[in-house]
Amino acid sequence: MEAREAWQKKGRPYFARKTGRISTDVACNCDHMATFSNAMSPAYAVIYANCAEPPPGVIPALMSDAFPLLKSIFGFDAFRPGQEEIVKSVAAGRDVLAIMPTGGGKSLCFQLPALMREGVTVVVSPLIALMRDQVRFLRDAGVAAGALTSGNTEEETEDVFTALDEGRLKLLYLAPERIARSGPLLKRIGVSLLAVDEAHCVSQWGHDFRPDYLEIGKLRSQLKVPVAAFTATADEETRGEIIRRLFDQPPDVFLGGFDRPNLSLAFAAKDRPRAQVLDFVIPRKGQSGIVYCASRKKTESLAEAIRQAGIPALSYHAGLDPDTRRDAEVAFQREDGLVVVATVAFGMGVDKPDIRYVVHSDLPSSIEAYYQEIGRAGRDGERAETLTLYGPEDIRLRRTQIDEGLAPNERKSADHARLNALLGLAEATACRRMALLRYFGETRDEGCGNCDLCMSPVETFDGTEAARKAFSAVLRTGEWFGAGHLIDVLRGVSTDKVKARNHDKLPTFGCGQEFSKPEWQTIFRQLMGLDLLRPDPERHGGLRFTEAARPLLKGEATITLRRDTITRAARARAEPVALVSEEDAPLLGALKAKRRALAEAAKVPAYVIFPDRTLMEMARVRPGSLDEMLGISGIGAKKLERYGSIFLEVITGAREAVHPARLRMAGDTGDLFDRLQAAQVRLARGETGLDVYLSCTKSTLAKIVELRPRTLSGLEAVQGMGPQKAERFGTAFLDELSA
Ligand SMILES: [Zn+2]
Repeated sequence: MEAREAWQKKGRPYFARKTGRISTDVACNCDHMATFSNAMSPAYAVIYANCAEPPPGVIPALMSDAFPLLKSIFGFDAFRPGQEEIVKSVAAGRDVLAIMPTGGGKSLCFQLPALMREGVTVVVSPLIALMRDQVRFLRDAGVAAGALTSGNTEEETEDVFTALDEGRLKLLYLAPERIARSGPLLKRIGVSLLAVDEAHCVSQWGHDFRPDYLEIGKLRSQLKVPVAAFTATADEETRGEIIRRLFDQPPDVFLGGFDRPNLSLAFAAKDRPRAQVLDFVIPRKGQSGIVYCASRKKTESLAEAIRQAGIPALSYHAGLDPDTRRDAEVAFQREDGLVVVATVAFGMGVDKPDIRYVVHSDLPSSIEAYYQEIGRAGRDGERAETLTLYGPEDIRLRRTQIDEGLAPNERKSADHARLNALLGLAEATACRRMALLRYFGETRDEGCGNCDLCMSPVETFDGTEAARKAFSAVLRTGEWFGAGHLIDVLRGVSTDKVKARNHDKLPTFGCGQEFSKPEWQTIFRQLMGLDLLRPDPERHGGLRFTEAARPLLKGEATITLRRDTITRAARARAEPVALVSEEDAPLLGALKAKRRALAEAAKVPAYVIFPDRTLMEMARVRPGSLDEMLGISGIGAKKLERYGSIFLEVITGAREAVHPARLRMAGDTGDLFDRLQAAQVRLARGETGLDVYLSCTKSTLAKIVELRPRTLSGLEAVQGMGPQKAERFGTAFLDELSA
């Protein structure tokens, strides 16, 4: 009986367990689309139906089984790490607090349970642009979703209410400022779950505090429904506050991993920073990126410099009028390859999954801010790069901002500690990811292989003696001077300032001639970075000792310093990572062009049609039929129906052009060629899928087929192979050759 009723509800996807009798061409008895696709798991089919009757041979599956939904609505074959447990708990109606890294697939953890549960799920989020995108995404996938925000047109609002009244809506997104007056409405429409995104906004200490969020607790007690709260950043203190304010009994807490292995991490000491930024951005033309600056003025001049280099760039800061800012956000969201040069004001409302890099041209304010800002890159899980520039002036600026702020003293010292954590990361001597994760309470035993220090280890030296000399100069000049003057004293340079203060008479004068001026600058920067010396705003920024310096001063501790980073700064100009092999690049370009045309016609961001990841997989795998298309991650039944044949046409069009090297082969030879080709596609990013992209040209593969080497060294000697490719592909190729 219940199953029967379920069929009669309207506008929802149904998930049916296939029985022995069902075949791919069975449809429901009414006209509505029924997709019994081969690509669904063998046991399930999905039916989009206003069907009055279930088709013969199908019985509705248990809604508790989330997998069919995962594939058909979201297009994924598997959950990302951590998602499954959370989905289970939320779907079962338990209170949940989930701390998940940005890009960990947070929204799916409430969207999916919303579809599994009866009634409406209300989603509270402070990010209007993000809410609208999610609604668009869900609708595109065939899910009834709507939003009530200040950004709505009257018509949109009207539609939402109609859908609610007819009992069609599954997800209702609600702006925080509407919570207080929405109680009666929400009671009437049968809300069964309250999902709170960016839950840290409830914390009065946090930088994103939203007073409206305090209303959520009241709403929950009125509605008596479970709450699922999500956030990407929450230290233990904030976590406690979220629990106190949103729940009346302890929720299931999920502390997701903080690692984002697809983000590469790099820091560089400032050395003509504008050139450093341009050197990074220019080779990455065509990629979307954010460059963060500490000042408004700088965003404008840097954006101009990037434009002059022939790359589309916009500046963005809180001083621009709202229309200009919104235009910039929309442009960034929609266009491929736009660079936004911004202050931190940019980002809260941006949920663009395919940002390929984030550059900090100035040091961020804390390790949390750093993590959140770099976290905007690579949300699609594909490789993305980050680079952070820093120098002594940044340290001075950030310290001053904290000291001159209005926060109470204990808060200031906490802020200094957070800044210290970031500086420690900047001055790290081993894997940065290990240091970063350690701060967030995660330990990791070995280097990540995807940070600048793993890729080119830094030279260190025992800096104890140098540090003592620096301290001595600080001490004997009364803790009144900055690094510039102190270095003159150490190197024995008789400037007017030195002579005027009789500092050339100090025993310290000239005791540090073994280091050049730039070398001393890096030593002082590191001592400041390690918070052994701190600029004192009451002494015009003169450097003073901190408590942490005491053991060193007393000779009870030693210190290891980096040999330097200035000479290494030039190396930040690494080659950008390729997204697909050279041979697949033209097809990817064609797929992107098609996507852009569709996105422009529908006035939506490109990734709403398909994310980059899906297009890249299409370009690599080159599906030849609609069924094969469904095997691509990110393509569910509805997307297939809407876009499948359009993109298939692009791919099969491109497929005609077979490489001449392959055309000349037949039978076994051709077969071997194809197997080598498949092996190289599989290993293009190594076994882990995270290594540097490598590929062999078709001519190289043809050469291998011709020569059929039997050993690794033989393979390595083939023209176009070399040691690196032999190491990556060698074993697999030899397997194929001996098969
Ligand atoms: Zn590393």
